[in-house]
Amino acid sequence: VNGETIHVVGGGLVGPLAAVFLAKRGYKVELYERRADMRKGKVEAGRSINLVVTPRGLVALDRVGLKEKVLKLAIPLEGRMLHDVKGDLTYVAYGHKEGEVINAVSRGLLNILLLEEAEKLDNINLHFQHKCTGYDITGKTLTFLNESTGREEKISAGIVIGTDGAFSAIRRAMLDKVPNFNYAQDFLEHGYKELVIPPAADGTHRMKSGVFHIWPRGDFMLIGIPNIDGSFTCTLFFRYDGAESFAKLKTREDTLAFFKKFFPDTLDLMPTLADDFAANPVGSLVTVKCGPWNVGGQVLIIGDASHAIVPFYGQGMNTGFEDCTALGDILDSGEKDWAVIFRKLYEARKDNTDAMADMALQNFVEMRATTADPKFQLKKQVGFELENRYPEKFIPRYSMVMFHPEIPFAEAKRLGDAQEKMLDELCANINDPSQVDWAQAERLLKKMGA
Ligand SMILES: Cc1cc2nc3c(=O)[nH]c(=O)nc-3n(C[C@H](O)[C@H](O)[C@H](O)COP(=O)(O)OP(=O)(O)OC[C@H]3O[C@@H](n4cnc5c(N)ncnc54)[C@H](O)[C@@H]3O)c2cc1C
Repeated sequence: VNGETIHVVGGGLVGPLAAVFLAKRGYKVELYERRADMRKGKVEAGRSINLVVTPRGLVALDRVGLKEKVLKLAIPLEGRMLHDVKGDLTYVAYGHKEGEVINAVSRGLLNILLLEEAEKLDNINLHFQHKCTGYDITGKTLTFLNESTGREEKISAGIVIGTDGAFSAIRRAMLDKVPNFNYAQDFLEHGYKELVIPPAADGTHRMKSGVFHIWPRGDFMLIGIPNIDGSFTCTLFFRYDGAESFAKLKTREDTLAFFKKFFPDTLDLMPTLADDFAANPVGSLVTVKCGPWNVGGQVLIIGDASHAIVPFYGQGMNTGFEDCTALGDILDSGEKDWAVIFRKLYEARKDNTDAMADMALQNFVEMRATTADPKFQLKKQVGFELENRYPEKFIPRYSMVMFHPEIPFAEAKRLGDAQEKMLDELCANINDPSQVDWAQAERLLKKMGA
């Protein structure tokens, strides 16, 4: 053991993975989590029932030998299945190369796996029901409410890593006390509600399972992601207020009429729709940008605590996992000074997480509105064809973000913005990929600097 103890606050998805990265390099880790131990009974799992793990997340998991274990829990998704208002289906692949899939997993099972792997290591101690209520930066002391005893505990903590999520207590302490700490939070006018399509009587999925289902309706959308138990978790992204909004759906009848009008093909699949809709909460969707993420070598925030993003690229957790990869790389370079390690991490990640936050917001428009536009599908096909013809020069932005962890997010955004303009020009006057003017495409690629 390196003799240094690192106090990790937050045992969600990023905290236990960061702890494993540190412990495998010989550091002692004390990890504190507000909730009770999820392995011992049914406790609320967090922000969504299932989520997708993408290759960026898999890189981090692979570094600590967990990739295959996570993939065993996952259903690979190869593309989007778009449902129109009549119930007609259109399939759009995510990529067009072997293995270009994303992986649906249960958040609860993934969190349990990460906690178990952390617990297996002798130099990690897990403390549940420890809610961080304060962090004194000057006195280097963490305060917890121990929710099993009701007592307050003060812990002297030389090095702290905050992985306590979008509403981080560690970040709040930095905001209160650190001069020149920048902070912005931005809530969407849409919230989300989770619903369920239960398995069929024989335990199988009631819709095609290896795809991500989307019901794009312009200003709002419903999505459906399969679970390994045969069910789908569906999520309605919808305005809080306005003509079509959560505020307008007050009764069971309102809900059923709304679904009948906009998502008629789901009605038979969701026998408990009206009850679930009334019972389940509406969650908020926030983007957080802040910086610097560290105070010297004393405290660092990573994961949602430093860069919460909206979920429309399925990259929030994956981005947090990428923070762990970057931390591991810096530690492996032999750097021992925590002030340098934390600063380097911030410098390596900040532009990339900001870019991912912006792309996630842009993708909301793509998912809820543009996917239903025939031009969107044409542009996708032309993008794939460009990748086939000029693999060194053109990788569609979606593929860069999802399937190319070696391309940093900021670079994917920069190239992606230029590609969008290029595809708009190439597809302006055509209806079919066979009509593309390839001489024009080459000129535009040159102009893009590709
Ligand atoms: C609807 C929805 C769908 C999503 N889908 C995806 C997806 O498909 N793919 C993807 O990559 N990301 C997705 N995300 C984003 C993803 O959920 C987050 O990015 C991810 O959970 C961040 O991990 P984290 O460990 O930083 O924070 P969290 O997972 O939020 O964990 C924080 C932990 O800290 C604990 N905690 C909080 N406060 C305290 C305190 N004061 N003291 C002690 N402990 C505390 C919490 O109990 C929690 O366990 C989605 C988000 C939403 C809302």
